[in-house]
Amino acid sequence: PDSPNLRMLAATVNERQRQAYLAPYVAGQTISAIGISEPGAGADPAGMITRAVRDGEDWVINGRKIWISRAEEADFTILMAVTDKEKGARGGMSAFLVDKGTPGFNVLRKIPMIGGQATYEVALEDCRVEGWKLLGEEGHGFAPMQLRLGTRRIEMASWSIGMAQRALDMICEYAPQRKTFGLPLSER
Ligand SMILES: Cc1cc2nc3c(=O)[nH]c(=O)nc-3n(C[C@H](O)[C@H](O)[C@H](O)COP(=O)(O)OP(=O)(O)OC[C@H]3O[C@@H](n4cnc5c(N)ncnc54)[C@H](O)[C@@H]3O)c2cc1C
Repeated sequence: PDSPNLRMLAATVNERQRQAYLAPYVAGQTISAIGISEPGAGADPAGMITRAVRDGEDWVINGRKIWISRAEEADFTILMAVTDKEKGARGGMSAFLVDKGTPGFNVLRKIPMIGGQATYEVALEDCRVEGWKLLGEEGHGFAPMQLRLGTRRIEMASWSIGMAQRALDMICEYAPQRKTFGLPLSER
């Protein structure tokens, strides 16, 4: 499984969600996605405006998400939304488990990225989510989301260092005349 999502789920699931979502995820039977970024809220997720409003036992979500990896293929998406506009990131943001194929969870387009990756843009249009699929405490989704982001940042740092190291090794291996890289300019 994707370790950041796994970490967020492990920190938040209740017993019902553990059985329905976490157990099959840990067993490698399902794929997950995370929906945080929005057209107007990337580096600063506190600026997100996607709204989740209670309707009886359910939640109804409206908004727009962008750059969402695996949005089309994921069995479920952990979707972040504002549940209290006044409180925002400090007690007004919640996480929801949205299943693949839920009416109103509309994947709009695939966005090609550098390196052959792809992400997706998703519109939430009166997307109805059952009440028990609120992940963690209402209004307190921001901290577990940050826990998730921290896990990914550590991964990204090690991937980046590894790739940079491999690139340098390849230069030395395939173009030995460029081994002068590590030397002071005067000695090249
Ligand atoms: C391959 C890939 C996969 C992704 N997958 C997902 C995913 O699955 N789910 C998801 O939710 N998101 C995903 N994202 C989105 C990613 O998390 C965002 O790209 C990231 O949060 C940055 O947002 P942005 O691209 O809109 O950049 P911006 O927010 O526009 O930032 C651009 C630059 O401006 C700087 N900046 C922004 N605001 C400020 C400020 N107030 N002060 C100073 N500097 C600032 C930033 O540090 C950055 O250098 C993915 C992105 C990529 C590239």
